[in-house]
Amino acid sequence: MCDSTIKEGVKTLYKSVAKEEKILAYCILHKNHITLTQMKRKQCLQKECKYFRKEQHSFWVLREMKKEHKKLRKILNIGDYNMESLEKESIGVVSLSGGIDSSTCLGLAVAMHTSKNVFAYGFEYGSKHPEEMKNAQIIADYYEVPFTVIKISPDLWKDSSSTLLKGGGKLQLDKSYSQIIEENGEGKVDTYVPGRNLLFMAHINSIAESLSEKYKKLVYVYGGMHADDAAGAAYPDCSPPFYKAVAEAMKISSVDKVIFKAPFINMNKAAIVKLGLSLQQPVPYNQTLSCYEPINGLPCRRCATCIDVEKALVLNNKTWEWYMEGR
Ligand SMILES: [Zn+2]
Repeated sequence: MCDSTIKEGVKTLYKSVAKEEKILAYCILHKNHITLTQMKRKQCLQKECKYFRKEQHSFWVLREMKKEHKKLRKILNIGDYNMESLEKESIGVVSLSGGIDSSTCLGLAVAMHTSKNVFAYGFEYGSKHPEEMKNAQIIADYYEVPFTVIKISPDLWKDSSSTLLKGGGKLQLDKSYSQIIEENGEGKVDTYVPGRNLLFMAHINSIAESLSEKYKKLVYVYGGMHADDAAGAAYPDCSPPFYKAVAEAMKISSVDKVIFKAPFINMNKAAIVKLGLSLQQPVPYNQTLSCYEPINGLPCRRCATCIDVEKALVLNNKTWEWYMEGR
């Protein structure tokens, strides 16, 4: 692509988004999403960029990366590791479902370890929404991270009545989680899948330990469980005590080589979206799928998760239309 075509492309793009204060745009130069502020300042994150001035380029890239790294280290409670050693001496492993939370986890892991040191894994286990794996693949491709789907036999849950599983009962629609908890009282919601996260994390631990041995590196495992899921004991396998117990088990099993992090354990969905949008390589939320009963691969807008997603979008000044763009 010649320089003038690129300049024209950027100009058109710039015009089309100029009305919005800070919007994510797709830059043909970067083959990446950037913010309008970045475009205005000609700030670039790609090393091979031709259009943006090269002189201060590497300085800028490093400065921004360091800033982001510092912020994320605080969230992750990783104190004494500097950016370079974290990149060189560690690997990130993410359990990726293709939803908002785990996709943000992946964005965060890539920011921490760079894409060449991150691996993502998804699970097919007989849920009503297996198409989420397609979204997970799109997110993994966007971050240039290898993605593997692990199959778990649905027979494990043949005695479960979870409404999230194929053959389970009907999902409750048009009610948020807080409404469901208010009506039914505290305790597991009917979409809870017995022991699912423990099983996922056991698989992830086997992978993480193997990767640690292969590459002789520390492995950070990232899980997307968050405060909304744990509220009212709706999903006990997303709660802080569960996270602590799994982290301890992984630490003992791997002899301190696998470190489990649940960066969102004290955050709600709105805070997660805010963080994901602020990343240097923002999470493409319009490609994520959190819905529990998608219609033709699209969010239903009626299940409790869709209702929570919409609430999180509004709190970030985003619309449902923005979320659906390009699907
Ligand atoms: Zn839905």
